[in-house]
Amino acid sequence: MTPPRLPDHRARLAEILVENRLDALVLCGLPNIRYLTGFTGSNALLLITRQDAVFYTDGRYGTQSAQEVRDARIIVRRSGSILRSLIGSIKLRRLRRLGFESNRAGYEFYQTLRSSLPGIGLKGLSGVIENLRVVKSPEEVAAIRRSVRLNSAVFEASIRRIRPGHSEAGVAAAIEHRMRRRGGEKAAFETIVAAGVRSALPHARPTSNPLKTNELIIVDQGVILDGYASDMTRTIALGSLGSRARRVYYAVLEAQQAAIAVVRAGVQARDVDREARRVLDHYGLEKAFVHSTGHGVGLEIHERPRLGRGERTKLEAGMVITIEPGAYLEGFGGVRIEDMVLVTDRGCDVLTPTPKDLWVL
Ligand code: ZN
Ligand code: ZN
Repeated sequence: MTPPRLPDHRARLAEILVENRLDALVLCGLPNIRYLTGFTGSNALLLITRQDAVFYTDGRYGTQSAQEVRDARIIVRRSGSILRSLIGSIKLRRLRRLGFESNRAGYEFYQTLRSSLPGIGLKGLSGVIENLRVVKSPEEVAAIRRSVRLNSAVFEASIRRIRPGHSEAGVAAAIEHRMRRRGGEKAAFETIVAAGVRSALPHARPTSNPLKTNELIIVDQGVILDGYASDMTRTIALGSLGSRARRVYYAVLEAQQAAIAVVRAGVQARDVDREARRVLDHYGLEKAFVHSTGHGVGLEIHERPRLGRGERTKLEAGMVITIEPGAYLEGFGGVRIEDMVLVTDRGCDVLTPTPKDLWVL
């Protein structure tokens, strides 16, 4: 499996340089460098000029970068900062105007560039490579499908073993342990298991609280497999639920299905969000929906586009996004249902295979 690499984006990168009147782009965002070069290590920089690309890493990654990095000259620095090597190249090549990733660079990184390169123009560009990443290649979609399938298999195996008295943290740990045992690299984010009143917190951290019967339990989990993330939420219950909890559950499910039904290439992100809100509003739950309807997923768990109020981004075939409306009632509990979908010209493919009937265990 080879995700897109530099050569696939050569033409667009050249356009970006021309449009911004730049001699080169300095990339420091690791997921972006991974996307363009295939490098999976934790320290790298990439310089892209109109002619070529130079990749910088440190001595720990000499062998690994030689195996992974394609289409760029590799410079391995044995001691000291790799930013120094990059600055050396810029001076040597007499590059005059540089673009850098303003959404990724830290303050010190910027200050070092600024002070080491007097007289050189620096232009902050936000999300240049992220924008290339929004539409997934067929190879990436295949990797995401595998990640989604593993995540669902882990969920189903883990959920069957939950009993009253198990703690939220214990269930989350068992889920993450199973992800690793089944070949996942790691959890894509801290697994959320939130029961009872804590399920009203959209991003609750699991506690040692024991799970009880007859209450809502939100499980939100994702795994990284071959570099690609997955993301799914199901709301479950041990034993039966009261009528209020069931009403909230089926309202959120209807909102989720309605939002999925409007996903199609050409539709604006905000239209999908609006559809989820319309359904929740019908059930008097619009105010209980306190986050956006979804986000892109790929090498990172949260990517562009964001599916929220006012987001005019047009969906394109090949985007992979989540649809995850929820309703959170303070002091009572919450429901969220989240699937990943692949945007197509005619609609979307729901990638997540896990059923969405209320999981009563
Ligand atoms: Zn999630
Ligand atoms: Zn999500």
